[in-house]
Amino acid sequence: MTATAPDLIPLVPPKAQPLPIAPGEAIPLEHLSPHDLVTYFRCPHEMELHRSQHLSWRTGAPLAPRTPSGTVPLSHSPLFPPPVGDPRPVHGRLDVGPQDTLVYQDPDEPALPFLFPAERSHAHAFLRDHSATLEDRAWALSGRPDYVVRRPDGHFFPVEYKETHLFEDYPRHHGRFFDFLQVLAECRLVEATWGVAPVSGLVYYGDSSGGGEREGWVEVPYTGAPRAWLQTALQLIRADPVRAPVPQEGNCGHCEPNRDGLCAYPKVRFEDVHPSHRGEVPRARRFY
Ligand code: SF4
Repeated sequence: MTATAPDLIPLVPPKAQPLPIAPGEAIPLEHLSPHDLVTYFRCPHEMELHRSQHLSWRTGAPLAPRTPSGTVPLSHSPLFPPPVGDPRPVHGRLDVGPQDTLVYQDPDEPALPFLFPAERSHAHAFLRDHSATLEDRAWALSGRPDYVVRRPDGHFFPVEYKETHLFEDYPRHHGRFFDFLQVLAECRLVEATWGVAPVSGLVYYGDSSGGGEREGWVEVPYTGAPRAWLQTALQLIRADPVRAPVPQEGNCGHCEPNRDGLCAYPKVRFEDVHPSHRGEVPRARRFY
């Protein structure tokens, strides 16, 4: 039997070789993660505080955040939302196809549910030869989806698992919208690792505390405009010399740097001016 082109894509991609470092080489891009993207979208200063804290721990040298003191807070995110349309939630158990295979699973998330029987899981083969963290050196992005699934036609897609239930109406700080950003970045990691751009990624809401009563998933498109949005967003994040605070109630109340007393802005509050939060946008069109 002659193999079709997608069949030739290996389940386990070849391991990337380290790039040679040439003298006088340009300064490498600031490394970002799906978590950085989500945090920046919520509040750039929160991302900057996380980043400087993390680098200080790693290097042992105190690193000040780049945000100049006296920076005027913003009333909303500096990023436009990604053009993902209005993905519809699908209720019920995530039913993977009988010929789908699992090619990756985050080994440091032991509470992830089993989506695949052992004979259709190749995650161990991947982890034998690769770091558990997927690396995209071209876009300087790294991170870990919860799962990566291969379809029989040779396509791959990430699945981000959330223990919570499928929300129909989303409080701003507990939004499906931020999950969309995360899975977009994970799509790029899958593209960089297996060499095939996913058409979309899934956010799977497992409703572990609700007994599966409100289990479901959302499919987030990736190719085309959302992918271009992601690339531009990463460039804007790196180029932002200020990383200003966005001190909104829904942001600051759940902010770790705020909890640790690191932010000077949390007492500044703006009215929540987004029309979706005043009930002026139909429920079905709300992103968060
Ligand atoms: S406390 Fe508020 S303004 Fe400060 S970093 Fe956190 S989210 Fe941003």
